[in-house]
Amino acid sequence: MAQETQDPHELWAQCLLNIERQVRPQSFSNWFRPTVVNRFDEDQLVIQVPSLFFADWVENHYLEMIRSAVKEETTLVPKVSFTVAQASESTSNSPPPTPLPTLDLPEETPASKRTEPTGEGDEETDVAPSIATTLNERYTFEDFIVGEGNRFAHAAALAVAKSPGKTQFNPLVIYGGVGLGKTHLLQAIGHHAQNLALAKKVTYVPSEKFMSDFIESLMNRKTNEFQKSYRSVDILLVDDIQFLLRGEQTQTEFFHTFNALHQAGKQIVMTCDSPPGQLEGLEERLISRFQWGLVTPIDPPDLETRIAILHQKAERNGITLPDDVAAFIGSYISSNVRELEGALIHLMAYSSIHKTELTIEAAKRIVQERGPDQKSELSIKSIQEVVGDHFNLTQDVLIGKGRKREVAAARHIAMFLAKRLTPNPLTMIGLHFGNRDHSTVIHAVRTVEKKCKNDPSFAQLVEDLSETIRNHHVSV
Ligand code: ADP
Ligand code: MG
Repeated sequence: MAQETQDPHELWAQCLLNIERQVRPQSFSNWFRPTVVNRFDEDQLVIQVPSLFFADWVENHYLEMIRSAVKEETTLVPKVSFTVAQASESTSNSPPPTPLPTLDLPEETPASKRTEPTGEGDEETDVAPSIATTLNERYTFEDFIVGEGNRFAHAAALAVAKSPGKTQFNPLVIYGGVGLGKTHLLQAIGHHAQNLALAKKVTYVPSEKFMSDFIESLMNRKTNEFQKSYRSVDILLVDDIQFLLRGEQTQTEFFHTFNALHQAGKQIVMTCDSPPGQLEGLEERLISRFQWGLVTPIDPPDLETRIAILHQKAERNGITLPDDVAAFIGSYISSNVRELEGALIHLMAYSSIHKTELTIEAAKRIVQERGPDQKSELSIKSIQEVVGDHFNLTQDVLIGKGRKREVAAARHIAMFLAKRLTPNPLTMIGLHFGNRDHSTVIHAVRTVEKKCKNDPSFAQLVEDLSETIRNHHVSV
C-alpha cells in the first residue's frame, strides 16, 4: 500500500497500526506506544525511544517486524535506527510524545511544554523558552515508596514542597548514587508545589542544561536574558550538580543565581552524586552556601522497600506480581531502583512474548540474561577498540592529546558512540577519554550529531560502527 503522505509522523502511525495487529496488546503498549519518529524518509527511519535499554530491546525483538511493516505500508526500505530521548534536547519539532507507560526507563520525559516568552521589556517576563523543562508526570510523591534509605530525604523534600522558601531547608541538597530516586524526589517537589499553587514558576533543570544555556547566552550575548529567566523563578530544581564541576564561569554564574534566589526567599533544591564536600572541583564558596540549608543522603533501599517498589510498579502497569517473584527479584537486584524497574519490565516483556506467567522460572531467566552490572565499562573500551581499528589509530593516540583533524574526528565519534551505546554519565565518558572534561564530551556529541544531519555518508559510517560495536560486544 503506497502512501501519498510524506509526513513522518503519519507514516509511522500507519506502520504502528500494522504492528499493532501482530503483537499482543501489552507488548504494543510497552514497546511501541512510547515511540516517536524523528525522521522517516527513503533513507532513514529514526525512532526515538525513552531509554537505551528500550532501544536494545526493540531492536533485538522487533526490528524485522518494523522493517516489514514499513515496507508494506510505505514501500520504503529505509535504514532503521533508534535514538534515545534526552531531557536537555529540544524536541519542539516533534509532536507531544505519547504518554510513556508506567514502567519504561526514561531518564526524563522530553521537554514538550515550552513557555513562549512574553514581551521583551516586561518586568514579569515569563520563563524564557530555553529553560522550560517539563516534569515527568510519573515523578510524584504519590508514586514514591518511602522506606529505609530514603525516609529522611523524602520528609525533607515534602516539607520543602509544602512551604517553598519558608523552611530551614534552603537550599536542600539530596545526594546519593544512581537510580536511587533523586530526580524523582526533585521533580515531585515541583509537581506538588505547582499543583497546590504554592509556587508560580518552577524550573527543573539538569545542571548540564544550566551550563549549556549559560554558554549559549554568552555566545549570543544574551546573558541578561539568561539571568532574568533563572532569577525569576520561585523554585529552582537543579539536578546532578556534580556536572557543574570545572566549568568555572558556569559555577560563578550559578553562585550568583543562587545568591539572588536565596536572598529573595526563593527555594533551591539540588541533587548530586556524592556529598558536596567531596566533589573535587566544586568551589568552596558554593559548598559553604549549601551548608546554609540541609544536605541529606539518599541510600539504597532495603529489601522490604525494594519489594514494595516492585509491587507498586507492577500495579501501575495493571499487573499483579506474585509475592515470591517480587521477593526473588528484590533480593537478587539490590543496587538501585532503576535496575529493579528494568528487570521488571524485562520480565513483563519476556512473559508476554513467550506467553508464560510471571513465574520464578521466568524471573530467573531474566536476571541471568541481564547479567551482572558491569557492561558499561566494557563497552566504552570496546567502542574505543572498534573505532581505533577502523581509523587505524592506536588506543593511546585515540585517547591522547593529539589535535590532528583525523584523530580528533575519530575521538569525537568514539565519544558520541560511548554516550549513545552505554549508560555512562558524561563525566565518566570524559574520564575514559584521557580524563577530559564532560563539556568536551558534550561538544563531541553535538559535533557528530550535526555532521550526521548534514552528511548522509558520515551518518552511515557512524551507524555501521555502531553495529560493529554491538556485535563486537556480544562476542567479547
Ligand atoms: P536518580 O536520579 O537518583 O539516578 P531516579 O530518580 O531517576 O534516580 O530514579 C530511577 C527510577 O527509579 C525512576 O523511574 C524512579 O521513578 C524510580 N524510583 C526510585 N526510587 C523510588 C521509590 N522510592 N519509589 C518508587 N520509584 C522509585
Ligand atoms: Mg537523576
